[in-house]
Amino acid sequence: MLIAGNWKMFKTQAKTRAFCAAFEPPGGVEVVICPPFTSLGAAVESGLTVFAQNVHWADEGAYTGEISAAMLKELGVSGSLVGHSERRQLFGETDDGTARRAEHALGAGLRVIACVGETEAEREAGATESVLRRQLAPLPRHEQLVIAYEPVWAIGTGKTATPELAQDAHAYIKTLIDAPVLYGGSVKPENAAELLAQPDVDGALVGGASLDPDSFAAICRAAA
Ligand code: PEP
Repeated sequence: MLIAGNWKMFKTQAKTRAFCAAFEPPGGVEVVICPPFTSLGAAVESGLTVFAQNVHWADEGAYTGEISAAMLKELGVSGSLVGHSERRQLFGETDDGTARRAEHALGAGLRVIACVGETEAEREAGATESVLRRQLAPLPRHEQLVIAYEPVWAIGTGKTATPELAQDAHAYIKTLIDAPVLYGGSVKPENAAELLAQPDVDGALVGGASLDPDSFAAICRAAA
């Protein structure tokens, strides 16, 4: 089981240090935190496993606002998210760009959690499987690649997929790619255990509930 906390654009360095001092991860589960770029160094100092929230596909170059895999590795960062729905929806990132980011990061020795998932309109139109096929197709096949299934309608909305719906999507994803699949979308201490009990749910990507050390620890305990 892998439980990853995506902090999005929350927590300064000082708040990151305070979280790490208060957070007590249980044994028996792999725990990762994904702070914003400016707080990565402070998080690494805590000894927790740290991933970035994004990574570029070039080693260096004229890419204003981007960060390379080598820059992350120098800080002691172990991996990165790619293709989060907020990157796709708010910043125009594409399936191909996500795949390029994943491929470069994996080649540079980082682990990668690649996010996929349908919008509410796509689900209502019966397009969930075709969206997942389209998003997964260009991703590299690699033993350090993890998929996060995050239905967009469940992210930050308080609407969680039912355990059965999550299981169905995860089982479908595993027909397309041989990789662990995390569930993401309003995972909380109250719903984590039943989601994580599904046979094809290999962990969780947690947004809002990962910001509080006690609630994130409770989710990690549900996984352990
Ligand atoms: C996320 O940001 O990946 C996420 C799943 O957010 P939340 O848990 O807040 O829905």
